[in-house]
Amino acid sequence: MEAYKLHPGEVIILRDDYCDNLMARSFFTESGELLLTTEAIVFTCIKRNKIDHIKVTPLDDIQIYNGRPQVKGPAAMLEDSIEIYTNGGVLKYNLGDSVIGRTAKKWAAAITEAVMKRKPQLCAPPAPPVPQYAPQYAPPPVPAPLDVRKCPGCGAQIVGRVGDIGVCEYCGCKVKI
Ligand SMILES: [Zn+2]
Repeated sequence: MEAYKLHPGEVIILRDDYCDNLMARSFFTESGELLLTTEAIVFTCIKRNKIDHIKVTPLDDIQIYNGRPQVKGPAAMLEDSIEIYTNGGVLKYNLGDSVIGRTAKKWAAAITEAVMKRKPQLCAPPAPPVPQYAPQYAPPPVPAPLDVRKCPGCGAQIVGRVGDIGVCEYCGCKVKI
Protein backbone atom coordinates (compact mmCIF):
# COMPACT_ATOMS: atom_id res chain seq x y z
CA MET A 1 0.00 0.00 0.00
CA GLU A 2 1.25 3.45 -0.83
CA ALA A 3 1.50 6.38 1.50
CA TYR A 4 -1.21 9.02 1.49
CA LYS A 5 -0.98 11.32 -1.50
CA LEU A 6 -1.98 14.94 -1.06
CA HIS A 7 -4.50 16.32 -3.53
CA PRO A 8 -3.65 19.45 -5.51
CA GLY A 9 -4.01 22.37 -3.11
CA GLU A 10 -4.12 20.12 -0.03
CA VAL A 11 -1.63 21.17 2.64
CA ILE A 12 -0.35 19.42 5.76
CA ILE A 13 -1.19 21.35 8.93
CA LEU A 14 0.11 18.97 11.61
CA ARG A 15 1.96 15.69 11.75
CA ASP A 16 2.60 13.32 14.64
CA ASP A 17 4.81 10.26 14.25
CA TYR A 18 3.84 8.72 17.59
CA CYS A 19 0.13 8.17 17.37
CA ASP A 20 -1.95 5.27 18.71
CA ASN A 21 -5.41 4.52 17.38
CA LEU A 22 -7.40 3.79 20.56
CA MET A 23 -10.53 2.68 18.72
CA ALA A 24 -8.81 -0.08 16.77
CA ARG A 25 -10.81 -3.27 17.08
CA SER A 26 -7.77 -5.45 17.09
CA PHE A 27 -5.95 -7.21 19.89
CA PHE A 28 -2.87 -5.07 19.53
CA THR A 29 -3.00 -1.30 19.59
CA GLU A 30 -2.52 0.25 16.20
CA SER A 31 0.37 2.67 16.09
CA GLY A 32 1.50 4.96 13.36
CA GLU A 33 1.46 8.44 12.01
CA LEU A 34 -1.30 11.01 12.18
CA LEU A 35 -1.62 13.81 9.65
CA LEU A 36 -3.96 16.75 9.67
CA THR A 37 -4.35 18.32 6.26
CA THR A 38 -6.62 21.04 4.99
CA GLU A 39 -8.96 18.25 3.81
CA ALA A 40 -8.65 15.22 6.05
CA ILE A 41 -7.30 13.44 9.09
CA VAL A 42 -5.05 10.63 7.90
CA PHE A 43 -3.94 7.80 10.19
CA THR A 44 -1.24 5.62 8.68
CA CYS A 45 -0.98 2.36 10.63
CA ILE A 46 2.58 1.06 10.73
CA LYS A 47 3.31 -2.59 11.51
CA ARG A 48 6.84 -3.96 11.46
CA ASN A 49 8.11 -0.78 9.82
CA LYS A 50 5.67 -1.13 6.95
CA ILE A 51 2.47 0.66 6.13
CA ASP A 52 -0.34 -1.72 7.12
CA HIS A 53 -3.31 0.45 6.21
CA ILE A 54 -4.35 4.07 5.94
CA LYS A 55 -7.54 5.51 7.42
CA VAL A 56 -8.63 8.75 5.81
CA THR A 57 -11.33 10.78 7.55
CA PRO A 58 -12.48 13.75 5.48
CA LEU A 59 -12.85 16.89 7.59
CA ASP A 60 -16.31 17.24 6.08
CA ASP A 61 -17.35 14.04 7.91
CA ILE A 62 -16.74 15.63 11.31
CA GLN A 63 -20.01 16.43 13.01
CA ILE A 64 -20.90 20.01 13.86
CA TYR A 65 -23.18 20.75 16.78
CA ASN A 66 -24.24 24.23 17.85
CA GLY A 67 -21.77 25.71 15.41
CA ARG A 68 -18.82 23.78 16.86
CA PRO A 69 -16.94 20.89 15.24
CA GLN A 70 -17.18 17.96 17.63
CA VAL A 71 -13.51 17.50 18.52
CA LYS A 72 -12.53 16.97 22.14
CA GLY A 73 -9.09 17.52 23.60
CA PRO A 74 -7.71 15.68 26.62
CA ALA A 75 -10.44 15.04 29.21
CA ALA A 76 -8.06 14.59 32.14
CA MET A 77 -4.70 16.03 33.18
CA LEU A 78 -2.73 12.90 32.37
CA GLU A 79 -4.34 12.16 29.04
CA ASP A 80 -2.91 13.05 25.68
CA SER A 81 -5.73 11.95 23.44
CA ILE A 82 -8.29 13.52 21.16
CA GLU A 83 -11.79 12.32 20.32
CA ILE A 84 -13.35 13.16 16.99
CA TYR A 85 -17.04 12.60 16.34
CA THR A 86 -17.68 11.80 12.70
CA ASN A 87 -20.63 10.62 10.65
CA GLY A 88 -18.92 7.22 10.58
CA GLY A 89 -18.36 6.94 14.36
CA VAL A 90 -15.92 8.15 16.99
CA LEU A 91 -12.18 8.34 16.41
CA LYS A 92 -9.85 8.39 19.37
CA TYR A 93 -6.14 8.95 18.96
CA ASN A 94 -3.41 9.08 21.55
CA LEU A 95 -0.78 11.58 20.55
CA GLY A 96 2.77 12.56 21.07
CA ASP A 97 5.59 11.32 23.22
CA SER A 98 6.49 14.61 24.82
CA VAL A 99 4.63 16.83 27.22
CA ILE A 100 1.36 15.26 28.37
CA GLY A 101 -1.73 17.08 27.19
CA ARG A 102 -0.10 19.77 25.13
CA THR A 103 0.02 17.83 21.90
CA ALA A 104 -3.62 16.79 22.10
CA LYS A 105 -4.77 20.32 22.93
CA LYS A 106 -2.86 21.66 19.96
CA TRP A 107 -4.38 19.01 17.69
CA ALA A 108 -7.94 19.54 18.90
CA ALA A 109 -7.62 23.28 18.28
CA ALA A 110 -6.05 22.80 14.86
CA ILE A 111 -8.69 20.28 13.71
CA THR A 112 -11.47 22.57 14.95
CA GLU A 113 -9.99 25.51 13.07
CA ALA A 114 -9.51 23.47 9.88
CA VAL A 115 -13.15 22.27 9.92
CA MET A 116 -14.44 25.79 10.59
CA LYS A 117 -12.47 27.10 7.63
CA ARG A 118 -14.12 24.50 5.40
CA LYS A 119 -17.66 25.10 6.65
CA PRO A 120 -17.82 28.72 7.79
CA GLN A 121 -21.56 28.86 7.05
CA LEU A 122 -22.24 26.08 9.59
CA CYS A 123 -19.85 27.22 12.29
CA ALA A 124 -20.39 29.92 14.85
CA PRO A 125 -17.62 32.44 15.45
CA PRO A 126 -15.68 31.72 18.65
CA ALA A 127 -17.52 32.99 21.72
CA PRO A 128 -16.03 36.17 23.20
CA PRO A 129 -14.29 35.62 26.54
CA VAL A 130 -16.55 36.02 29.55
CA PRO A 131 -15.52 39.04 31.65
CA GLN A 132 -14.39 38.19 35.18
CA TYR A 133 -17.17 40.20 36.79
CA ALA A 134 -19.99 38.68 34.76
CA PRO A 135 -22.53 36.69 36.76
CA GLN A 136 -21.71 32.99 36.68
CA TYR A 137 -25.29 31.81 36.23
CA ALA A 138 -26.90 31.57 32.82
CA PRO A 139 -30.43 32.75 32.15
CA PRO A 140 -32.90 29.97 31.28
CA PRO A 141 -32.62 29.11 27.58
CA VAL A 142 -35.28 30.60 25.34
CA PRO A 143 -36.14 28.44 22.32
CA ALA A 144 -35.41 30.21 19.04
CA PRO A 145 -38.50 31.10 16.99
CA LEU A 146 -39.62 28.85 14.16
CA ASP A 147 -39.10 29.92 10.57
CA VAL A 148 -39.58 28.50 7.09
CA ARG A 149 -37.03 28.12 4.30
CA LYS A 150 -37.35 26.88 0.77
CA CYS A 151 -35.34 23.71 0.07
CA PRO A 152 -32.50 24.56 -2.37
CA GLY A 153 -32.81 21.03 -3.78
CA CYS A 154 -36.48 20.42 -4.43
CA GLY A 155 -38.29 23.58 -3.37
CA ALA A 156 -40.21 21.98 -0.50
CA GLN A 157 -40.79 23.93 2.71
CA ILE A 158 -38.37 23.29 5.55
CA VAL A 159 -39.53 24.39 9.00
CA GLY A 160 -37.07 24.73 11.84
CA ARG A 161 -35.80 26.90 14.65
CA VAL A 162 -33.78 29.98 13.71
CA GLY A 163 -30.09 29.15 13.89
CA ASP A 164 -30.58 25.41 13.40
CA ILE A 165 -29.80 23.42 10.28
CA GLY A 166 -33.02 22.22 8.69
CA VAL A 167 -32.99 18.98 6.71
CA CYS A 168 -35.42 18.54 3.83
CA GLU A 169 -37.59 15.51 4.49
CA TYR A 170 -37.93 14.85 0.76
CA CYS A 171 -34.44 15.18 -0.64
CA GLY A 172 -32.16 15.51 2.40
CA CYS A 173 -30.78 18.93 1.46
CA LYS A 174 -29.62 20.99 4.42
CA VAL A 175 -30.32 24.67 4.87
CA LYS A 176 -29.60 27.10 7.70
CA ILE A 177 -32.86 28.39 9.18
ZN1 LIG B 1 -35.74 19.08 -0.76
